[in-house]
Amino acid sequence: MRVTTGSVLRTDDRMFRVTVNAFGVGPQRRAQRSLVVPAERLQALMQTIALSGGRIEAVTAIDAGTTVDASPAPSPTPKTDAVPSKPVAVSASHAQVPVNLYKPKDPFVGTVTENYSLLAEGAIGRVNHITFDLSGGDPQLHYVEGQSIGIIPDGEDANGKPHKLRLYSIASTRHGDDMADHTVSLCVRQLQYEKDGETVNGVCSTFLCDIEPGAKVRITGPVGKEMLLPEDEEANVIMLATGTGIAPMRTYLRRMFEPSERETNGWHFRGKAWLFMGAPTTANLLYDADFEHYQREFPDNFRYTKAISREQQNAKGGRMYIQDRVSENAEEIFAWIENPKTHVYMCGLRGMEPGIDEAMTAAAAAKGLDWSELRPQLKKAERWHVETY
Ligand SMILES: Cc1cc2nc3c(=O)[nH]c(=O)nc-3n(C[C@H](O)[C@H](O)[C@H](O)COP(=O)(O)OP(=O)(O)OC[C@H]3O[C@@H](n4cnc5c(N)ncnc54)[C@H](O)[C@@H]3O)c2cc1C
Repeated sequence: MRVTTGSVLRTDDRMFRVTVNAFGVGPQRRAQRSLVVPAERLQALMQTIALSGGRIEAVTAIDAGTTVDASPAPSPTPKTDAVPSKPVAVSASHAQVPVNLYKPKDPFVGTVTENYSLLAEGAIGRVNHITFDLSGGDPQLHYVEGQSIGIIPDGEDANGKPHKLRLYSIASTRHGDDMADHTVSLCVRQLQYEKDGETVNGVCSTFLCDIEPGAKVRITGPVGKEMLLPEDEEANVIMLATGTGIAPMRTYLRRMFEPSERETNGWHFRGKAWLFMGAPTTANLLYDADFEHYQREFPDNFRYTKAISREQQNAKGGRMYIQDRVSENAEEIFAWIENPKTHVYMCGLRGMEPGIDEAMTAAAAAKGLDWSELRPQLKKAERWHVETY
């Protein structure tokens, strides 16, 4: 099989700094402020500023350092071409994906806006959806689908040192769940294990699952370029997720199928997406109702296959794991992979990798292919994306 490089990334990833007077409420309105936005939000921001009577002093393309417009007050219906008509010396590539806007030594302090359980009654463990308000930073903490952020939990470790950050995959699109462009959501499972007869709670996951709206949290990042979505609106996307590994997949699926996203993001997905989701019980499925809904609304574009290990049986009568679903659908999965527009994403606990590898090895062998040769080729072509932890 020939492996072809898929075009990875991303429409217009330029960032702009808008310097504005008389914008906002209260004391903010008196101060000159600087707002950083991605190119695709620039027009909307300028409209908001104009409608609220604000005055734009300058629009600067970040990195390029070029002031592209030091205009008087904008007209109530500014056009994007009022902004840079000359090309800014930044090309859309991985280099434009935001990375480490906030570092551990000087983290952004976000505010929790909501924290609720994603599990149904009878589920095993604890998994929460937690949202943080990111507004007010300079630069604004922004991100794209497939990235992670770091959380520094409050308190100190056993040696009296501040806790180190833990990474969490972002579960919201770049626009945030409320489409306001200044929130980020996570999907966090509380780590719990038994040691010497006692239950040990993971430091950061417990901190996050217990946190109350209004609390301040130190956030770093964003980081990660492994799990970025292809730019191609006709790409095919196979997603293999277990547990909280669903977080990046939720961002992709919202970007593809959530009505408010489709209206706003200017990315009109026309390819096919196939989600394989592994969970121990039905009550542990995460965001299941949303995915069922997308499947009903977009039957030609989205397929949703579940492996519920403690409730379903595989062909051998054992527990149904995600790799069993991969084996069952191997022929079709390989037919998809033969298409150079297909990308595969895997996310979840590290333990899922050998099972998937085994299933892919058997499926490849059935087609006379050697998976140990094929996988590195797919990886090199940026079509095989793995983030396990
Ligand atoms: C790129 C990336 C993305 C991630 N995304 C997510 C996500 O979306 N959601 C999510 O919930 N998590 C995610 N994680 C995991 C997350 O970063 C933390 O590792 C996790 O929340 C545990 O942190 P903690 O502080 O609660 O646990 P800690 O207090 O740090 O405890 C973890 C340590 O406990 C020990 N330990 C763990 N299990 C056992 C056991 N069974 N027996 C004995 N010792 C044990 C190990 O030494 C382990 O290092 C991600 C990790 C990475 C690297």
